[in-house]
Amino acid sequence: MIPVTRRASRKVRLAARWVGGDAPVLVQSMTNTDTEDAKSTAEQVAALARAGSEAVRITVNTLEAARQVPAIRSRLVAMGLEVPLIGDFHFNGHKLLAQVPECAEALDKYRINPGNVGHGSKRDDQFATMIEKAIEFGKPVRIGVNWGSLDPELLARLMDANAASAAPKDADEVMREALIVSALESAAKAEEIGLAGDRIILSAKVSAVQDLIAVYRSLAARCDYPLHLGLTEAGMGSKGIVASTAAMGVLLQEGIGDTIRVSLTPEPGGDRTREVIVAQEILQTMGLRSFTPQVSACPGCGRTTSTFFQELADRIQTYLRAQMPVWSSQYPGVEEMHVAVMGCVVNGPGESKLADIGISLPGSGEKPVAPVFVDGEKTVTLKGERIAEEFQAIVLDYVRTRYAPGAPKRSAQRKKTISIQAAG
Ligand code: SF4
Repeated sequence: MIPVTRRASRKVRLAARWVGGDAPVLVQSMTNTDTEDAKSTAEQVAALARAGSEAVRITVNTLEAARQVPAIRSRLVAMGLEVPLIGDFHFNGHKLLAQVPECAEALDKYRINPGNVGHGSKRDDQFATMIEKAIEFGKPVRIGVNWGSLDPELLARLMDANAASAAPKDADEVMREALIVSALESAAKAEEIGLAGDRIILSAKVSAVQDLIAVYRSLAARCDYPLHLGLTEAGMGSKGIVASTAAMGVLLQEGIGDTIRVSLTPEPGGDRTREVIVAQEILQTMGLRSFTPQVSACPGCGRTTSTFFQELADRIQTYLRAQMPVWSSQYPGVEEMHVAVMGCVVNGPGESKLADIGISLPGSGEKPVAPVFVDGEKTVTLKGERIAEEFQAIVLDYVRTRYAPGAPKRSAQRKKTISIQAAG
């Protein structure tokens, strides 16, 4: 795979991890529980972390929520989880951080929205208080500007200047500029107050794909702070996934983005961890990171006689994902494994040979047999009622032998053969 050249950025320490520089692009998520309910919040943070979230943001909006943050941290420690916790502050963050030092200490990063830190003369003082708390407790800060809460005074200033200019820009362009200026001016202010430049991460989220791309391209060109990417209010289901992927895919391809969050609106009763899986899949399909073995499956067509291959592909994908919390430490490199589940003889054997392990199921009119390919060679042909169970056992056996510590690495010859076949 062709590597992506990452934009040069400062490196920021986030608990035991790094953000920016040559550190991998980090997956973040956010809870939607009431932070005053420490049990539910800790459970959701744990679910997000177990799904692969490498930092989790929680709302800190009331005195009681701030008081519960250390309890949330303790519960996570008791569960054996060390995931960094980010406190999301708006309006009263200066008071909460000052009044509840245990909260300021328990968090690993503060998110400050410059559009929501107060108005007029109070604004600078309240912003300064939050930055001073970050300095006092040695925490990094994300200055997170948002389209929906853009600083109105700054916007009015830029709009006035634009109206007075010889060649005024359109209002959308001024809005985008206001977002960028808000982030950059706030970062400069934080540095003036004394926060080190390598303790600052920026974000400037909007809800339209083209706006997000334009804003982040400009932001990336004008600073070297690490950037947190995300399309705000991305929406539900496929709309939210497609919009987030389209926007972040372009930026990540240009090397822009050091942390990402997919802001999906869960369906009622839906699983919050889906946003983590989608974020991982964006990074993995782009070749930026590997999290879990990938299953290639054909879409099916008139040559497929049943939904069996779809069920098998789903079963294998679910199985592989479920094993990863254990496999990732037992079998280093397994996250790069490629499994193919194909529906007929047209592309089945070819795709299966290109994968590490693949199965070509019988299509319409074909003999009811399923050849299995391991490292490009046909090893066995499955048939009968237990194809799914037998294939899963073959996958497990492959993982145990191929990725066991000390097992011989895949040969360069095999990789060369694959790339020649793929090019052909
Ligand atoms: S591999 Fe076969 S079943 Fe699958 S999409 Fe191609 S032709 Fe159809």
